[in-house]
Amino acid sequence: MTPLKEVPIASFPLERFQTLVGERWGEVETAMRRAREIFAGRVVWHVNSTARGGGVVELLTSLLAYARGAGVDNRWVVINAGPEFFRVTKRIHNNLHGSPGDGGPLGVDERQVYEATCEQNARELASVVRSSDVVFLHDPQTAGMARMLRETGVRIVWRCHVGLDLPNDDARRAWDFLRPYTEDADAYVFSRRDFVWDGLEDHNVWIVPPSVDAFSPKNQDLDPPTVDAILDVAGLREDHGNGAPVFQREDGSPGRVDRTAEVVGGAIPAGAPVVAQVSRWDRLKDPAGVLRCFAEHSELPDAHLLLAGPSVNAVADDPEGAEVLDEVRELRESLGAGAARRTHLACLPMTDVEENAAIVNAIQRHAAVVVQKSIAEGFGLTVAEAMWKSTPVVASGRGGIKDQIVQGESGVLIDDPLDLDAFGTAIEGLIADPTRAAEIGVAARERIREHFLGTRHLTQYLDLLDELIS
Ligand code: UDP
Repeated sequence: MTPLKEVPIASFPLERFQTLVGERWGEVETAMRRAREIFAGRVVWHVNSTARGGGVVELLTSLLAYARGAGVDNRWVVINAGPEFFRVTKRIHNNLHGSPGDGGPLGVDERQVYEATCEQNARELASVVRSSDVVFLHDPQTAGMARMLRETGVRIVWRCHVGLDLPNDDARRAWDFLRPYTEDADAYVFSRRDFVWDGLEDHNVWIVPPSVDAFSPKNQDLDPPTVDAILDVAGLREDHGNGAPVFQREDGSPGRVDRTAEVVGGAIPAGAPVVAQVSRWDRLKDPAGVLRCFAEHSELPDAHLLLAGPSVNAVADDPEGAEVLDEVRELRESLGAGAARRTHLACLPMTDVEENAAIVNAIQRHAAVVVQKSIAEGFGLTVAEAMWKSTPVVASGRGGIKDQIVQGESGVLIDDPLDLDAFGTAIEGLIADPTRAAEIGVAARERIREHFLGTRHLTQYLDLLDELIS
């Protein structure tokens, strides 16, 4: 059995960004020329642990396609790993976010499980890379591959998408576990300065915040009748308008939403203001806290809450999804009939990831307010996605969310993610004041256009790789 799975990468023209970036287009053209020179004959490999679900997949799907469109030979491979490995790496992931996760150890046995899988995958990759190539290892799941890959002479970048503003003992324990592996990387990329581990050599550290793809099915413009039609077909909202549930696929061909979500609580009545959080079913996203906040800490008699996430069996590297969804479902039942009538839990179909993305797009556009109540957050792509759609966001002032939202201008930050009253009051305020909500929405879109589009992201990677190679 081949351990690694290669994920197909599309090719998108960067020219799409010309109208969005305005006078900065000249810089993008210069960068494209440089990229073609630097990468001639080289392959840039990206290795991660899943081809479906979560922010890393979202980023790789679009960034690698744009880089390919600009003439760079990128490849994307996904490691093969079993449930034991993912239990260990989920623990590391939670620890890196400062949470104990399942509370289990990170000792000798866990190292054995981790190293065996990493070595098996690294051996396979080492047989196809050349010394002039570059390998990006994404997140804790792949860090352990660096040592064996190093022997091939290839340059290695470890890209860590997770982190914590104020590290605690859990985070340090995960660093200690990973450190011997990451030492074999030539450069480290973090989403923000605060996430950089103690003891890493500063000149090897790069800070590169993520970005959104303005043209993907997740973020492309959809007009209101289309949004309504998508939500109707997906079983999320009662509306029998005359729009068609259509979107444009990544390759430019037409797409249509046909599948329904599994919705606890049924469809939301047309006309009701919607408060939504879209996230993997993960305790660090605190869906239970959002539910409690909506039901017990806000006065929104007409509004409905939609908690949406991927179908729980679809995300290979996230073994806790089903458990978390069960917890949220039980909490919803315990809140009584009044709350149950106005709260909806949706597992979105993942069979066709572009269809899934179009449904997420419609939710983020339709919502009166998008919430992201993360206890810890690496970046929080869902925040940028909603902001790009001019939807006002109320989010925890944690991690990369703080870099996206300018407090009170392009969204509302709540300092303490556990402060349910503060979340409730902020959501109520935006629903009661549509003029302010709209102003925040306009500023939010501009903030993303200015700082968080793929062209900025790719140019930063180009600078990094240029330095590494030369
Ligand atoms: N997402 C999705 N379908 C879902 C739920 C989430 O495509 O049903 C996407 C979401 O739109 C975002 C990504 O998963 O692009 C989550 O990224 P984020 O940075 O918010 O969190 P992560 O999952 O990486 O912790």
